[in-house]
Amino acid sequence: MKAIAIVPHTKTVQLVDRDDPKIETPTQVKVKVLQVGICGTDREEVAGGRADAPPGEKMLIIGHEVLGEVVQVGDAVRSLKPKDLVVIMVRRPCSECEMCKKGCSDMCQSGNYTERGIKQRHGFHQEFVIDEEKYMIWVPPALVGTAVLTEPTTVVEKAIDHACRLQVARLPVDPDPKKWLHGKKVLVAGLGPIGLLAAMVLRLRGANVVGMDIVDPHSLRPRILEEMGGKYVVGKEGAMKGQSFDLILEAAGIPKLDFQLPQFLAKNGVYVLTGVASDGPPLAVDAGRLMRDLVLENQIVFGSVNAGIAHFKQAVIDLEEAEKKWRGVIPQLITSKTPFTRFEEVLEKRNPDEIKAVIEWA
Ligand SMILES: [Zn+2]
Ligand SMILES: [Zn+2]
Repeated sequence: MKAIAIVPHTKTVQLVDRDDPKIETPTQVKVKVLQVGICGTDREEVAGGRADAPPGEKMLIIGHEVLGEVVQVGDAVRSLKPKDLVVIMVRRPCSECEMCKKGCSDMCQSGNYTERGIKQRHGFHQEFVIDEEKYMIWVPPALVGTAVLTEPTTVVEKAIDHACRLQVARLPVDPDPKKWLHGKKVLVAGLGPIGLLAAMVLRLRGANVVGMDIVDPHSLRPRILEEMGGKYVVGKEGAMKGQSFDLILEAAGIPKLDFQLPQFLAKNGVYVLTGVASDGPPLAVDAGRLMRDLVLENQIVFGSVNAGIAHFKQAVIDLEEAEKKWRGVIPQLITSKTPFTRFEEVLEKRNPDEIKAVIEWA
């Protein structure tokens, strides 16, 4: 079978031939890969950035946002059968920390977790993959067009869930974290796939969503936001003057913006960052004002990455809910589908109008 592999920390990326994987234990499932989404992580990997091959190997098969179809199950597999659609989790636990031992590898404390397609485990850009049943999430057939967006959706599910849990833990409000967002004012900064999927989840929970980006208000990203009932604001000086938000979700990864956003946080507000910023020159910020406001206004700032099984399941539920509520809106996030034989066209460059590029395997 074919696979897309890189030599980590170089710019070598190629289509390679590999033996078909075989089920080796009764709890494993064999999956035919249908689609794999591409994100900044993949592009960083093919450009020679962050990636590690499995121990003792030179190459890493990349890809971590997968939708597949079950073709074979081990004798002990109960929840899946051939022809089922599945998405597969990315991270695998380390063997030492308390979080991983408790099934929370997305909060791994040792840093020695592994990740399919990123860190010491082959990813999903191949015709067939094998994994344990417990890392697979069943997907309803109706989601065949959008379930490749599940993995990026899990990132926002976790960020939003944790923000809501923090709020219900400290404020005298309804103890159900999902209800906290109802009627709240939320700012989503950056309308890439993560920002738009965040807007989707937030709108489903009844929040009033303002999305900020620098793109033309008549272009696709603002249109998708507005079709879900969100409001678009072009991010320029003074655009947000006088406004304050109960929750700010950052999905841009721009350090200067990251430090400007807290001024728009309401009293008792929560600010969650999901964008991965690069190193850069030091910034001049009024740290006194920033820290003082956090204290005097009871505000929270935290970062969030990756996601666990509960957030994968919630992502599938929300993608299905969104499709019922706004038929045809979420599929617009997938702006290109490219056969795996032409992977260079999307992996090594990025179309400026792209939201989510997908590579098709079957
Ligand atoms: Zn990704
Ligand atoms: Zn761990």
